[in-house]
Amino acid sequence: MAAVLIDGKALAARVREEVAASVAQLDHVGVATVLVGDDPASHIYINLKQKAAEAAGIEARDHRIPAGTSEDDVLALIAELNADDAVDGLLVQLPLPGHIDEATVIEAIDPAKDIDGIHPTNAGRLYLGRPTLVPGTPLGVMRMLEEYEIELQGAHAVVIGRSSIVGKPMAQLLLAANATVTMCHSRTRDLAHHTLDADILVAAIGKPHMVTADMVKVGATVIDVGLTRTDEGLFGDVDPAAAERAAFITPVPGGVGPMTIAMVLQNTVTAARARRAKDLANPAH
Ligand code: NAP
Repeated sequence: MAAVLIDGKALAARVREEVAASVAQLDHVGVATVLVGDDPASHIYINLKQKAAEAAGIEARDHRIPAGTSEDDVLALIAELNADDAVDGLLVQLPLPGHIDEATVIEAIDPAKDIDGIHPTNAGRLYLGRPTLVPGTPLGVMRMLEEYEIELQGAHAVVIGRSSIVGKPMAQLLLAANATVTMCHSRTRDLAHHTLDADILVAAIGKPHMVTADMVKVGATVIDVGLTRTDEGLFGDVDPAAAERAAFITPVPGGVGPMTIAMVLQNTVTAARARRAKDLANPAH
């Protein structure tokens, strides 16, 4: 029997409507994006984020600065946006040019405005199981699992990939939801041994169709985060033939991809609300 397809496109549209409704209730919500250099893919991502923010009624400021900008100048721009009360969310597009230290730039972002959830303070809060801003992709996966009522408590979740933006926060979120989590990576011995025991399998690798159907447990929920663009098209990490064994599976495209931007917008609303709540608690703030 073929798996139920998890429709990320439809769910992302719903999240964006929810965000727009929340923005309408708040006085003003603002986001600022910073893009350094002329990487074409980064310009496409920023265009998408800008458009999505505006469509949700969020005021979107678009800072695109030359590749040769010094680290000090980038840090000065971030300090200015941190101090600007009209900016609720601040997003720096990665990767940065080689002469700029990414860790320094990320640590310069006000954690309260860090809608990508990449600041060490937010990553630490997630690790400690405290409420925080979480990277959009794993947050989107959690929303998908919730929407399709996938039982997480006590389930065995296997995450392939351990990046700071996907694999690690994904594992933390699944753990917080009481799954039993196994993390796999490029040095994992006998990957199939782990994946075949996964009730929930999340692939965040970046290797087209590396997870073959025979690596998937019958009845599993399979979440394919991978996106690799080749001359032949866009490929996920999971062979679509896995749909013959899985109970639920995300397609590529139209699965996890559309959720990421929607969740970054949701993070902007979360950040805006939290900043206002602080103001209410401390009017002198
Ligand atoms: P990344 O930083 O390159 O991490 C890839 C991970 O995969 C690493 O932890 C690596 O292990 C592991 N890996 C590589 N080869 C492996 C193998 N043969 N067996 C098991 N594990 C292996 O990538 P990322 O940023 O997490 O992104 C992963 C994929 O998701 C990419 O295709 C990316 O384009 C996609 N992505 C999609 C979205 C979206 O919106 N849908 C968002 C973000 C990322 P080591 O740590 O040992 O090297």
